[in-house]
Amino acid sequence: MNRQLERILKTVQKPARYTGGEYGAIMKDKERVQTRVALCFPDTYEIGMSNLGMRILYAVANKMDGVWCERVFAPWGDMEEAMEKAGLPLFALESGDPVGSFDIIAFSLGYELAYTNVLNMLRLAGLPLRRADRPGLSPLVIAGGTCCYNPEPMADFIDLFIIGEGETVNGEVIEAYGRAKKDGLTKQAFLALAAKIPGVYVPSLYDVAYGGDGTISAITPCGGAPLPVVKRIVENLDDAYFPAETIVPSTEIVHDRVVLELFRGCIRGCRFCQAGYVYRPVRARAPDKLTKMGIEGLEKSGYEEITLSSLSTSDYKELETLCDGLLSWCEPRKASLSLPSLRADNFSMELMRKAQKVRKSGLTFAPEAGSQRLRDAINKNVTEEALLQTCRIAFAGGWNSVKLYFMLGLPTETDADVVAIAELAHKVLGIWKQHAANKSRGVRLTVSTSCFVPKAHTPFQWAGQVTMAEYERRVALLRDAMRARAIVYNWHDAKTSLIEAVLARGDRRIGAVLAHVVQNGGRLDAWEEYFSFERWQKAFEATGLDPAFYANRERLYGEVLPWHVTSAGVGEAFLYGEYEKALRAELSPDCRTACTACGASSLTGGRCDG
Ligand code: SF4
Repeated sequence: MNRQLERILKTVQKPARYTGGEYGAIMKDKERVQTRVALCFPDTYEIGMSNLGMRILYAVANKMDGVWCERVFAPWGDMEEAMEKAGLPLFALESGDPVGSFDIIAFSLGYELAYTNVLNMLRLAGLPLRRADRPGLSPLVIAGGTCCYNPEPMADFIDLFIIGEGETVNGEVIEAYGRAKKDGLTKQAFLALAAKIPGVYVPSLYDVAYGGDGTISAITPCGGAPLPVVKRIVENLDDAYFPAETIVPSTEIVHDRVVLELFRGCIRGCRFCQAGYVYRPVRARAPDKLTKMGIEGLEKSGYEEITLSSLSTSDYKELETLCDGLLSWCEPRKASLSLPSLRADNFSMELMRKAQKVRKSGLTFAPEAGSQRLRDAINKNVTEEALLQTCRIAFAGGWNSVKLYFMLGLPTETDADVVAIAELAHKVLGIWKQHAANKSRGVRLTVSTSCFVPKAHTPFQWAGQVTMAEYERRVALLRDAMRARAIVYNWHDAKTSLIEAVLARGDRRIGAVLAHVVQNGGRLDAWEEYFSFERWQKAFEATGLDPAFYANRERLYGEVLPWHVTSAGVGEAFLYGEYEKALRAELSPDCRTACTACGASSLTGGRCDG
């Protein structure tokens, strides 16, 4: 570690965020590698190191010959200040080398409010923000992750986006880059070649024209670039890499345990959920393979906790077999198994009993809407009776803490739907009073609401977000309806939800807003202490863009949407059909009950694991 950094670290909070050198970190001789990759997570170390995708991509890239992939995280405000004062540029954790000296700078874009961090990290690396101002092949700035399904707000800054699951495509891009570097290609020549790799979107190869009403009139690809760029997926998850040998952080992180990914995709089709559509179709790992992977992960890392992860864990067909296999290893060694993402409808007593043997954590459910009508409109196939029955079993089994998550502002929501959230919470409380195994411990019932944000590639991509004033009115209505003191009500801030909505459905012009925010001190916007709505308002004013045009405007079927440059494999007509069903509060079956021909199976040769 250089002495300047050593001096700085004495002055900042949590210095372990910046030291590297953890157990499992990969070191290579930089003189003997051809391509150096800085894998950047645009948030703090604790958040980035909890991200399974980051761990997978790090390991997969480092398995490539001649490639050294290192990690970079966003510095917290105190560290950023100290680095700037000392003239120390953003650096990678393994080598301590400046990010600006790497060949490829790869960002993971998992949530929209991290966009300003991406720009700020480029600034801290001493690089121009806009791709047009970085004419050389190196460093090449690329991005992947769920947000890239609408890459347009970041199109001015990123040279190349990876659409879909990065395990395979990343390697192909790194390899192509290595060849281009060896052959002395220009950046343009390399990008023209890279655009031919399936799953790669090169924004400089697309012209976007706008009409008089501000909507997009045409997207025109140049030089044979594909339109749309169809996502890449790992067809057989049993072949996908699992990072059993992983980095064990030497400081506390958010999820510090082995994370076992059971399957990708989701059979459900909740109409608001972007992950539920863009990760289709369902591809599951075999239970014996998972058991082996989980045990290996625990053994190699020394972790004493393993968690099962997927969009809807209780939909994994062989969950009981898997839990039995893992528990028979975990129990004698006092390791614990946790089961997040449970649905209220198929959460069996048996499963609960099994998980309880090791650790009894609080229960979390996301009914999303208070009334059955609205739950049907959003296709959340959960009935009130199923939720209450689960709570009955849980309270009788000794649980005394339940968290319920809802959204306000969903399409078709009325005041009666809002009040129904309070009614449901009171019913849960009543169930506790009737069935609690131990009433003396009291109950902790938390109700949280967030403001609905319409997302690209979902049936609600055409819907408008409610205005901030309307969201706040609905929050007040619900707060007044929540009478019991045992219920704690938390609600999410309307301002961050508005910005999230603008970024989620923004077009290329939003890049000017992002640059303005960052040039005026914006960063770490996902953190309350750093988010400044005023700064965003000033950026909208300065660029002449209206946030309501992006967030609150309902879009018509047939409008050219900024994210038409990508395809998640699910057809637009299918999505619109689902939107129309939502307006009629009509349910669609899940993929296991009946295939509704969404189109995603075309990515796996017609096969879905539903
Ligand atoms: S093709 Fe059918 S089974 Fe497969 S994800 Fe789409 S709706 Fe579900």
